[in-house]
Amino acid sequence: MSAIEEVEQARKHIQDIIHQTPLLHSQSLEEKWGRRVSFKAEHLQKTGSFKIRGAANAVTQAAAGGARLVTAASSGNHGQAVAYVAEELGLSSVIVVPTDASPAKVAAIKAYGGQVEYCGTTSAERIPQAKSLAQEMGGVYIPPYDHPDIIAGQGTAGLEMIEQMPDVDLIVVPVGGGGLISGILTAVKAQRPDVLVIGAEPALAKDTALSLERREITAIGPTETIADGLRTTQPGELTFPIVSELLDGLVLVEEQEIIEAMRDIAVRTKQLIEPSGAVAAAAVMAGKAGAQGQNIIAVISGGNVDIPRFAGLLKPAEIE
Ligand SMILES: *Cc1c(COP(=O)(O)O)cnc(C)c1O
Repeated sequence: MSAIEEVEQARKHIQDIIHQTPLLHSQSLEEKWGRRVSFKAEHLQKTGSFKIRGAANAVTQAAAGGARLVTAASSGNHGQAVAYVAEELGLSSVIVVPTDASPAKVAAIKAYGGQVEYCGTTSAERIPQAKSLAQEMGGVYIPPYDHPDIIAGQGTAGLEMIEQMPDVDLIVVPVGGGGLISGILTAVKAQRPDVLVIGAEPALAKDTALSLERREITAIGPTETIADGLRTTQPGELTFPIVSELLDGLVLVEEQEIIEAMRDIAVRTKQLIEPSGAVAAAAVMAGKAGAQGQNIIAVISGGNVDIPRFAGLLKPAEIE
């Protein structure tokens, strides 16, 4: 099966589990930013982020292969998505989280029916634990981005966008491990090679920018960007070749730009989004991606932020 066929297949597998999210639009925001921009609203997706697209596809495949249990290593959006999908499909799930995981995130995983196991503070500790649990219990480990089923699942967002806005010129996508952008590139470049796709990374987590510059996977040290969904320290083995081959550009955004985009989107569109979800929009806001006159879609990848954190992030600039 070709890569685009895998995305189309994924769409069939996941259509009863996920939402088709809307494109949101605000005239007053367009005027403020001086750009024609719409937002692919994955913060309104089930479980609050696009991660459920890949998770639904991968867990469906695992179930089709006879698995009764899946595991994942993430206290964030991926862990929540895997727990939710497993419960929907009647599988059990074990989600391995760091010992310092926030109680709110752990509660969300449990509410979705996931069993929580604590292990260490780094993904280097958690991933082997999640893999060996899967092996011991006859289950399947579900990785967050570097897997063909995950990439194909995330690509369904790309199919939706080119259908929802046939005259789109540019799609801007946040880049962490690269699963989302690889999937979108696979879908969009197969069906609409004329549509540009640009990635956006926090300047504090520029592992993909560095890797593209050096033409090989390059790791950075641990990073503290507020965009916690983009703290991966290197692109994936499967995602990086796709990004290298198909991407039209990659831009870096500053922490303050992420916060400003969160604020503008909250004020003008009344949407509450998480820092990672604001990174592509921040690139457009800052004039780093997209030109005047282009029809732009910025992917809002997630909305999982609690009110105290949201308020805390916005506060300093308000005082200035
Ligand atoms: C995981 C995540 C990303 C990054 O996706 P990758 O596939 O790792 O590039 C971006 N935004 C949010 C909200 C996420 O949860």
